[in-house]
Amino acid sequence: MARYEAVIGLEVHVELKTRSKIFCDSTTEFGGAPNTHVCPVCLGLPGVLPVVNKTVVEYAIRVALALNCQIAEFSKFDRKNYYYPDMPKNYQISQYDLPIAEHGSLEIGEGGEAKKIGITRLHMEEDTGKLVHQGTITTTPFSLVDYNRAGVPLIEIVSEPELRSPEEARRYMEKLKAIIQYTGVSDCKMEEGSLRCDANISIRPVGSGAFGTKTEIKNLNSFKALQKALAYEIERQKDVLEEGGRIVQETRTWDEGQGVTLSLRSKEYAHDYRYLPDPDLVPMVIKKDWVEDIRNSLPELPEERRNRYVREYGLPDYDAGVLTNTKELADYFEQCVTACPNPKAVSNWVMGDLTRLLNANNVEITGCPVAPGQLASLLRLIDEGTISGKIAKKVFDEMFATGKDAETVVKERGLVQISDEGAIAAVVNEVLEKNPQSVADYRAGKDRALGFLVGQVMKATRGKANPKMVNKLLKERL
Ligand SMILES: [Zn+2]
Repeated sequence: MARYEAVIGLEVHVELKTRSKIFCDSTTEFGGAPNTHVCPVCLGLPGVLPVVNKTVVEYAIRVALALNCQIAEFSKFDRKNYYYPDMPKNYQISQYDLPIAEHGSLEIGEGGEAKKIGITRLHMEEDTGKLVHQGTITTTPFSLVDYNRAGVPLIEIVSEPELRSPEEARRYMEKLKAIIQYTGVSDCKMEEGSLRCDANISIRPVGSGAFGTKTEIKNLNSFKALQKALAYEIERQKDVLEEGGRIVQETRTWDEGQGVTLSLRSKEYAHDYRYLPDPDLVPMVIKKDWVEDIRNSLPELPEERRNRYVREYGLPDYDAGVLTNTKELADYFEQCVTACPNPKAVSNWVMGDLTRLLNANNVEITGCPVAPGQLASLLRLIDEGTISGKIAKKVFDEMFATGKDAETVVKERGLVQISDEGAIAAVVNEVLEKNPQSVADYRAGKDRALGFLVGQVMKATRGKANPKMVNKLLKERL
């Protein structure tokens, strides 16, 4: 990519966690038997009228404020017309020229590398239903339609085309997810589709101010997919240009299995949708007082929380960044610190063994079998010298697998650290007698022999001897 640079913009859809849908009182609950979370309004039956859910507007403003957007004083809904069975009305209610919010920004990167990415707009719209195929869309003998999701509230957040690499796009997406989660308006589960991303991408010669022809990639349902699809698409576009070809403006899909983007359809233009103001919904006048009330109710956001961790707990900036990456992890950490006032030790465990086991078992922090208080008790046992750090790792594995308390595991397994000097001295003497060669080596200046002898004592005590004491006693005798 010496001669080209990528120009990337993201369109992110977020499902809002309101109880009822955006224009009716049907539930927004995920799943359910097909077509059971519906009513005449979200089924688009004749003679019914939509009424906007005020909480949706409030949530949209919450996110918009967290993204430093300007909130419109006057906003309206429009119909986006298209003919496809996932929308029973043959139009989707969305916002076109007067979105609820515009001109925001989000910072990616840290410290000296911080970069501000502009947010063009944030608007509200209704989600579509879901088509269910047998196998793939091209081979299925028929398709079924489920309208449970039709009318679930969405916000769409459109970035400026200011991202320059797949890595930056992933960082933007991670940051956006964290901020939205902090505001509490969505669970942002990519695997359940409550956070979805489309990417617009083009390439241009380095130094050129003009944009190249872009393609849009759909179906990016994980951070990894986003990054891989963009990397693939950059190479593909480069190859097309270098062979003297032209990029076709089109919509492409990411095929995870093959690791390629495939052409889906030629790109629609805005005029194809024949947007028009929805005559069934009155325009909205957003009062300034209300916006200020919402602003005042915003929780601490990731950036502030990270700074506070550095200031209040004395953590390195790296730790603070990892811990505040999701609200849930940060909450877990803080609950743990309340019960065990050694923030760096807690941070090490949360970022280390805890994260390792969560990943290995594919468990979210919210479903962690070890409660924050239980981890704090384990750390107290280490602090008090009841168990060694090494044994603690074993204890923690078992706590994670069984949900038992640290004290219970230690008792059941007889893992209490031996700190009785007499008991350890007896083992030390025995080990020295059995290993005259190592003793001679150590005395001849080979320091490594000490490590071997320590290992022998630990082995003989099944890892339970207090390592500090073992070292001290061995050195004294040697
Ligand atoms: Zn409904």
